[in-house]
Amino acid sequence: MRELVVLGTASQAPTRARNHNGYVLRWDDEVILFDPGEGSQRQLLHTTVTATDLTRICVTHFHGDHCLGLPGTIQRLSLDRVPHPVAVHFPAGGADYFARLRHASSFHETAELAVEPIGADGQRIALRRGTLEARRLRHPIETYGYRLVEPDGCRMLPERLAAYGIAGPAVGEVQRVGHLDLDGRRVTREEVSVPRPGQRFAFVMDTGLCDGVYALAEHADLLVIESTFLESEAALAAEVGHLTAAQAARVAAESGVRRLVLTHFSQRYADTRRFADEARAHFDGDLVIAEDLTTVQVPPRRVPSDG
Ligand SMILES: [Zn+2]
Repeated sequence: MRELVVLGTASQAPTRARNHNGYVLRWDDEVILFDPGEGSQRQLLHTTVTATDLTRICVTHFHGDHCLGLPGTIQRLSLDRVPHPVAVHFPAGGADYFARLRHASSFHETAELAVEPIGADGQRIALRRGTLEARRLRHPIETYGYRLVEPDGCRMLPERLAAYGIAGPAVGEVQRVGHLDLDGRRVTREEVSVPRPGQRFAFVMDTGLCDGVYALAEHADLLVIESTFLESEAALAAEVGHLTAAQAARVAAESGVRRLVLTHFSQRYADTRRFADEARAHFDGDLVIAEDLTTVQVPPRRVPSDG
């Protein structure tokens, strides 16, 4: 199952309609909490995600709307006796903030956190299937965006394997080696499989336009990106290190993004339809204006092109 669960969509301060920022990505056996703002623990209760489901927490930077939910969420891991270690990533320069948030109040700590700060642009963390990669973004404090990259693979076709009489460990061998010699005849992987394009998810928060934004967004099947402002505030956006809806949409269009999720809206805008209007002028793929407590599917795997 691969989907995004939106916990909150407000930048800076929550509104009556929008909780502080917060997102969960379900990606096979990984359930990753991104940027838990204030109130994230309670927002989780309104979704099908539990604290026990979480395998990893990724924080882009230590502004409050991206991290004030850490104390409650971390304490909840212990309260619920989460049995597995939960990995945590955040900018290494913010280690003091993390230490304070982690131990913001007294609690009986039983959950195990596997803390692995991000200390360099391009840092990679190996997952069971694919890679989590951090890229430096442009914001007044140290900020990293994240992307998940699944390598291209192939899907074995049972009926073809059966036709060649390939079974058991031989299936793994032809998949791994690329061919198999059977009674004097060589069967290639291509004869018994079809290509399976890897999928990509990107999470870009709090940044002015920079190389890191494009590096993360490249060929993303699902891109979650901040669009704090509209064009009318473009100068302000540039000054404070944020994106407009139009900029985010242009990034998506130029990067071959398939499904674009805009979020992290300034509380100055009561009506988010204008974000869709301004983005639509630049991006003609799937466009989602994020709302709290909604779910966005990662689009179905791309169909491999011939040849
Ligand atoms: Zn920020």
